[in-house]
Amino acid sequence: MQNNRTVPNTDDNIKKCQCPECPIYNKCMKENDEHLFCSKGISQCDFNKTGCVCPNCRVWIEYQLISLFYCEKGVEKN
Ligand code: SF4
Ligand code: SF4
Repeated sequence: MQNNRTVPNTDDNIKKCQCPECPIYNKCMKENDEHLFCSKGISQCDFNKTGCVCPNCRVWIEYQLISLFYCEKGVEKN
């Protein structure tokens, strides 16, 4: 059976999202209320690509995600 790595854009998942704790997360992202990049897709902001804290996130674990840097690459490819 194929894994379903499609993350729904829900309030519950937004609360779990660790992006605001990430070293990449910046003022532009905050001002645009960006987060949950694994569901909503890439950021519209410029940023320095340092670390990604997605593996610390319950959403990443629950949906069996594989990749990192969803803010740059967009949603997980199923
Ligand atoms: S896996 Fe990453 S992008 Fe997705 S909710 Fe968690 S911290 Fe945010
Ligand atoms: S997707 Fe990963 S790299 Fe991008 S802001 Fe979220 S935790 Fe950081």
